[in-house]
Amino acid sequence: MSNVSTTWEQPLVPPERIPEHADVVIIGGGIIGVTTAWFLARQGVRVVLCEKGHIAGEQSGRNWGWVRVQGRDEREIPMMLESLRIWDRFRDETGEDVGFVRRGCYFAARSDKEMSAFENWVRLAQEFDIGSRIMSAAQIREYAQGSAINWVGAVGTDSDGRAEPQKAAPAFARAAAREGATILTSCAVRGLETSGGSVSAVVTEHGTIKASTILCAAGAWSSLFCRSLGIALPQLKVRGTVVRTAPCDSVMNGNLFDCHLGIRRREDGGYTVAHGAILHHPITPSTFRWGFKFVPALRKEIKVLRLSFGKEFFDEWRRPTSWDLDTESPFEVTRVLDPTTGQRVVAGIRKNLDKVFPQMAEVPIVESWAGMVDTTPDVVPVMGAVPELPGFHIATGFSGHGFGLGPGAGQAMAGLLTGGDAGIDIAPLRPGRFFDGSPLELLSTI
Ligand SMILES: Cc1cc2nc3c(=O)[nH]c(=O)nc-3n(C[C@H](O)[C@H](O)[C@H](O)COP(=O)(O)OP(=O)(O)OC[C@H]3O[C@@H](n4cnc5c(N)ncnc54)[C@H](O)[C@@H]3O)c2cc1C
Repeated sequence: MSNVSTTWEQPLVPPERIPEHADVVIIGGGIIGVTTAWFLARQGVRVVLCEKGHIAGEQSGRNWGWVRVQGRDEREIPMMLESLRIWDRFRDETGEDVGFVRRGCYFAARSDKEMSAFENWVRLAQEFDIGSRIMSAAQIREYAQGSAINWVGAVGTDSDGRAEPQKAAPAFARAAAREGATILTSCAVRGLETSGGSVSAVVTEHGTIKASTILCAAGAWSSLFCRSLGIALPQLKVRGTVVRTAPCDSVMNGNLFDCHLGIRRREDGGYTVAHGAILHHPITPSTFRWGFKFVPALRKEIKVLRLSFGKEFFDEWRRPTSWDLDTESPFEVTRVLDPTTGQRVVAGIRKNLDKVFPQMAEVPIVESWAGMVDTTPDVVPVMGAVPELPGFHIATGFSGHGFGLGPGAGQAMAGLLTGGDAGIDIAPLRPGRFFDGSPLELLSTI
């Protein structure tokens, strides 16, 4: 499949009407950029968002749609709980329906080892007053009716939810535009101008916008953008393949993860399904540049990690890492990162789906797509100001968790960009943590 379709009507602002000034410029129209724009615009901040392709064209329109606190790293939990509250009220506040419903999130275990990890999570969840619970084998079988798997048990959080990725970021972008934000699509940011050592403007393919506060929310492109400014940001890409089925009878109504399958009910009556046990990392020059920082994370995921060597290596090899701001940048060359769907992975998803839910064997897969997850060495986001370049901020590296976290992250970044107060403690996510001698912390529960 090429270019996931979203509900964004474009262009909203023709390139010749690009503003000359802004209080804040946001680079990237994924869920992080658009939610930040919405919160800023509601405070009366003159915000301009520049997206090189279309809103939600990359990760934010290609993900599973899970909005979960279950299984999160402790550093993400307060932001995720805030996020859930924002997802809850978004429709009432804006009239936009993004299909958000709280139908729960359930991880089913095939072994006692998995169950003991779930018990660790439940202990952590209790500290935050999250109602996660251990479920018996009978309870999970009753939930996932008709499953052929003899799970030993499960962990469940009934208050978790889901939303429709193709609708969500475009809806936040529309809401931001109604509040006065300028949302520019097909408008790549090539780089920044500085004055006295601080940021003074962004240079886009259509002209320059003067601003002293910039947010880089460029997803899988953030590391390259930062590199062009001389800022080191360790980030690697992992490809995820996803399918959707035709509408069918319900086999369960929430989000269910089993070590071979991730499945959630869709608003259209079908299911979004992915492989539970494959993380695909195409080797690129970045693998060698950052690999040593990722060793602990790679070791943890070694069983599910698949490495490949091919086109992605040579694409990145040929891509420049710096360029003149009056010439085409790599962000214009690749308007939308649209990775090839792995047909073997799609076949594997089909096989696993039929094993877990044999009653779905006749339900056709009607679409498949892939997305590149941007991941960091400790698998949690990078959020905060960049001290080496006053005025420049980063919110990226959401490591496969950013869709659900988006509204909470947007609110925190808007607070940081306006008054310096994110409202929650984002210090553990600061950009400098990979270089200041801090020990690398990896999720210790699930
Ligand atoms: C297959 C898959 C499944 C996932 N499942 C889930 C899930 O169930 N739940 C969950 O919470 N998360 C999930 N995620 C992760 C989630 O989708 C991401 O963490 C989140 O969407 C990241 O949002 P973002 O705004 O940071 O990045 P993106 O959505 O990637 O947006 C970044 C945008 O920046 C633009 N851009 C880049 N450089 C420039 C430039 N120089 N100028 C202008 N624009 C630029 C890009 O075109 C892009 O549109 C999944 C991800 C994938 C790929």
